[in-house]
This record gives sequence, structure tokens and C-alpha cells, in this order.
Amino acid sequence: MTAIAMCACTEQANDRVSQPENDFNYVVDQFADLQILRYQVPGFESLSLQQKRLLYHLSQAGLMGRDILFDQNCRYNLAIRRTLEAIYMKYPGDRDHAEFQALETYLKRVWFSNGIHHHYGEDKFIPGFTPDFFISCIRFLSASDLPLKPGQTTDQFLMEIAPVMFNPAILSKKTVQSGNVDLIRASANNYYEEGLTQKEVEEFYNRIKDPDDDTPVSYGLNSRLAKENGQIVEQVWKVGGLYTQAIEPIVAELQQAAQYAENDTQRAVIEKLIEYYQTGDLKTFDDYSILWVGDVDSEVDFVNGFIETYGDPLGMKASWESTVNFINKEATKRTKLISDHAQWFEDHSPVDDRFKKKEVKGVTAKVITVATIGGDCYPATPIGINLPNSNWIRRDFGSKSVTIENITEAYDQASLGNGFNKEFVWSDTEREWIRTYGFITDNLHTDLHECLGHGSGIILPGVDPDGLKAYSSTLEEARADLFGLYYIADPKLLELELVPDKDAYKAEYYKFMMNGLITQLVRIEPGKDVEEAHMRNRQLIAKWVFEKGAPEQVVELKQKEGKTYVVIHDYEKLRELFGQLLAEVQRIKSEGDLAAGSKLVEEYAVKIDPVLHAEVLERYARLNLAPYKGFVNPVMKEVANKKGEVVDIVLDYTEGYAEQMLRYSTDYSFLPAYN
Ligand code: ZN
Repeated sequence: MTAIAMCACTEQANDRVSQPENDFNYVVDQFADLQILRYQVPGFESLSLQQKRLLYHLSQAGLMGRDILFDQNCRYNLAIRRTLEAIYMKYPGDRDHAEFQALETYLKRVWFSNGIHHHYGEDKFIPGFTPDFFISCIRFLSASDLPLKPGQTTDQFLMEIAPVMFNPAILSKKTVQSGNVDLIRASANNYYEEGLTQKEVEEFYNRIKDPDDDTPVSYGLNSRLAKENGQIVEQVWKVGGLYTQAIEPIVAELQQAAQYAENDTQRAVIEKLIEYYQTGDLKTFDDYSILWVGDVDSEVDFVNGFIETYGDPLGMKASWESTVNFINKEATKRTKLISDHAQWFEDHSPVDDRFKKKEVKGVTAKVITVATIGGDCYPATPIGINLPNSNWIRRDFGSKSVTIENITEAYDQASLGNGFNKEFVWSDTEREWIRTYGFITDNLHTDLHECLGHGSGIILPGVDPDGLKAYSSTLEEARADLFGLYYIADPKLLELELVPDKDAYKAEYYKFMMNGLITQLVRIEPGKDVEEAHMRNRQLIAKWVFEKGAPEQVVELKQKEGKTYVVIHDYEKLRELFGQLLAEVQRIKSEGDLAAGSKLVEEYAVKIDPVLHAEVLERYARLNLAPYKGFVNPVMKEVANKKGEVVDIVLDYTEGYAEQMLRYSTDYSFLPAYN
């Protein structure tokens, strides 16, 4: 039932210290478990005016849909955001008061998560201020400041909205991915109308899906499912359909952008996307995806639409997102070298020959510089993307894969000397490897993961590509990560001069194991399981190789002065184990072996040792760092001459976090509070 969720990997290395420091101010804000950074857009100035104007209009289009994601994440998100913003703007009391400060933090979190649920952990976060304070704030406002439903009084509004914010039992989790419950009813997001059951949804889609179709559309991708007059119907997100108020301005900006396209191919891509937004036809979306994959010559590129399906427990409905970018030509030499050898990597991988691609097709990989991120890529953003997601389009037309290096660069710079490695890395030897090779091998791992990992292997004929159900995202990420881990230690990389030294991979191996076994736990609250697919994948891999290598002590968890560290004794053997697990995960995917796949995930990826967890949280707390990071965009401005003609586009890096969010809520907010 699910489209294979491809990757928008959000791994954020916590401490990479390999780049020379520069004086750009990367850190913007910090609150709760979040840190806000800004990124630079090197090379923007030297683009042509036409390219800049193209980027400008694509960026505008990339901001117009912000409200859509809020509404997709939960049906109360827009009403709550607007209420909080009204209080934040008009509050007449003491803004240093603890209750107001807590409200400010809560609003900043709502902005960050595009709603009231944690962007990564999925749980609803509860305000740090009291319901009484909230009520007193509402009393300050006039009815016209509040997103009231027709005929609703302020009291009725409070009765409805306050429990959604304060009662942990109501709409408690955005997306419930597993467990013995009705996943649709248990999830708080807004992809299915309240009251629909998982059984009804599955029956609806099983009825319209044709199992013999070799080139199926991505069923359900661009609609909410609802019941109208007793009939289940798709409310399609398109011009004239659901979210039309936001989609119309997206289309208007895309029409502007089309005028500045670099070439006919790119213009055709933009025009096809407009046609898709106008018709909502998923066949047109496939046509668009095929055109988009084929556009490899344009320097400017973008994603705008309903793309990733991580937020739907059934993996069908896509959240709205956008990235706008241009190529980093120098760094792309690296990914080109990798993709030029894609067949070599496929042929030499440790998986069974039956599961290999005989002919690797159309792997294009590049390093890009983002200029604007929007929707589900904002403020938390991926560092690598591989699209399209449709299996048959990947099979027949290939995919485009990117590494976003101005984002990884910002992470790297912002973490300089923050004490993380000193606390968690075993010894100076490993720290030295990380310092010397960390930035290079991190980027290389992302390249290999995106460009080769996701694109490798085949699904055997007759196997349902959606057969791994709720486990598919975790296993798919594991497959891509393992491909990268296996090859980052390969002599081929030295031969291609992609790594400076035969030991460089050890930096990545050490960091991966430390992260998977220990340090990624800093993102999880005590008592909770690992939920997010990328995190599950990393724990799955790290715990599996740890256990399988235990008889020979390949990797050890060692105590020193009451603290736990990862110590790797045998790097070569560790690589073999990564290879073995890659072979098994590929087999599971190729054969659609749900039993083995679910066993792997449940056994290794989900549960946490509470004693180790407590220790790690305590050590991390003392560093006063934030485990999750996101970004503000630079402000893109048109510069006009006296005649009003646009003569340049410039970037301004001075906007703050709250400032940007409030501006977006003013300038790019088109939807009603309830949709
Ligand atoms: Zn991935």
C-alpha cells in the first residue's frame, strides 16, 4: 500500500571540526531542544540575472505553501498558531514574566514543528504555561483577533482549543507507525478525516489499485480522504480543490518562474508542474517527475509539491515541501565520479547476484547549494535528497540525488568546539580522525547513501514493492546507509582519490557506531522508544553489528570513570559485518520478506537500555547543547532601478527567527484556520 519512502536524510552530525572557522554568524537562536542556525549561499552573486530571477520566483513559490503543511500535520495547527501569534503581538503585560516566556518558547516550537507535535519524535509537546494564563491572554484579545469558526463564541473557542493544547491524551501523537492499533485513528495528522478507520482506508485503495499495473500512479499522494454523504471520497489538493487558496499563489509564482527558465527542458518541467497543480491528476505528476529526472543540464533546480510520505502511517499521502537550489560545480566533480562508477559499485557489492541491477540506469548525482527551503524542509532540513519516489520511474528513468553542502557546512561550523566529541569520543586517536577526515567522510557517506544506496538493487518479479508495510522506511534507510558504510572503506575510493587516506573511513565508522549505540539517544525522552525511521535504521545497524561481532570483540562498550564509550577493536571485521547485514537487508527488500524485516526492526531498532539512556542524557545536559537543528532562510530581495525594472536579486542574512516566522505568517498565509 505504501510508496517506498525514499530519503530525505536529516542526520545532523553533532560535532564536526574539520573546516577552518570563518566569521559568518551561524547561530541564530536556541530554545527547548532546538537550535536555529543560518546558512550561507556561496556563489549566488555570480549567477546570471536570469538565474537569480528564476530562483527568486521559485523561492516565492516555495514559501506560499507553508500553511498547507501546518494543516496536514493536524487540523488544529493553524488555529493554534494564529492564536499564539495574536497573543505574542498584542500581549500588554510583562514580557519577561515566566508564563509569557513559556508561551514564547511554545510558539517557537510550534513554528519549528509546523504544528503542535514534535517534528522528529511525533509526540505532542505540552505548553510550559498554565491554562489560566492562556485564558487571561485570550481575554486581552478581541474576537476579531481569534480564528473563530462561524458563530463560535470566544468561550466555545476556548473549550475546543485548550484541551487540544493542554490535555496530553488528546491528539497525542502525529503519526503512529506501528503497534496493535488502528494506525489511522491513532494518528493526529490530517490526511484522513476524523472517524475513518484503517480498514475503510485500505479497502478504498485496494479497490482502485490494479495489481497488474506495471507503471502505477502514486495512489492517494495528493488528497485527504473523507466521507461525504456516506461515501468515501478523495479531497484532492489542487487549484479549485482542497488548499486552493495556497496552491493558486504557488502556481502564479511558478508561471513567473517559467519566464526565466534556463532552457526549454526546464520550462517544460515547470509548466508540467503547473498543469499537475491545476488538474490534481497523478498521471500528470508522473509525467512531471519523468521530465524533472531528465533535466540534468540546468544549473538551477527545485522541488515543490507533495513529495515525502513519512507522515502517513500507510505511506501514501505526501506532505508539502520545497527546496530551491543551484549546482555547486566544484563539489559535484566528486559525486559525478561516484555516479560514473555506479555499475562497478553495484557489481561488487556483497549482496546476492540475483538481487543486483544488471544495468544501473540514470544515476545523476550532484552537490547543491540551497537558496530557500520551505514546507516540510523548513526549518529542519534534509542534507541529502533522492527523488522521485515512484519505483517504476526510478526503474525506467533513474533518479536524481543531491547532497546539500551549504547545509552540512553550516552544521559543521556551528558545532566548532562545542565539547561534544570531548565528552563522548573514546580517545584522542578517534578525535583526531574525526577532526582530519570527518567533514569529507560525512559528505561522502551522504553521497554514497543517496546516489548509490537508494538506487541499488532490484525487487524480484512478483514481489509487492509495498510489502514491507510500516517497516519499509527503516529498512530502506538501513539499506542505503549500509551501502555507504560498506563502500566508504573500499580501496576503490582511494583509487578514485575521493578519500585522502586509507584510514579516513575510520572517522565515519567510529562516529556511526557512537551515534547508533549511544549519542543519538540524546534526542529521546526517558522511557520512550526509538520511533523515527532514520534513527531506527542507525540503531538497527549499530546494535546488529555490535551483537554479531561480540564473540570476537569487534566493538566494545567500555566504561571509564562511570561513563560508557564505544571502542572499535577491529575495523576490517566491522566492515565485513556491515557487508553481511547489507546482503540480508537487500534480500529482505528483494523478496519482500516482511517476517524477517519486522523481526530485525523490532529486535534491534526500537528498544533502549534505560540505564545507558539516563547516563547519556545526563552527560549531554551538562554540555548545554540542542540535539535538533533548523535554519532560517536568507531574505531574497528584488533590486529595481528608477524605471522599476529588476536589475538584481540580493540576499540579506540578518533576519532573526521569530521575525522570519511572523513575516511568513503575514506574507505567505492563505488558508482558512480550518480546512
Ligand atoms: Zn536515505
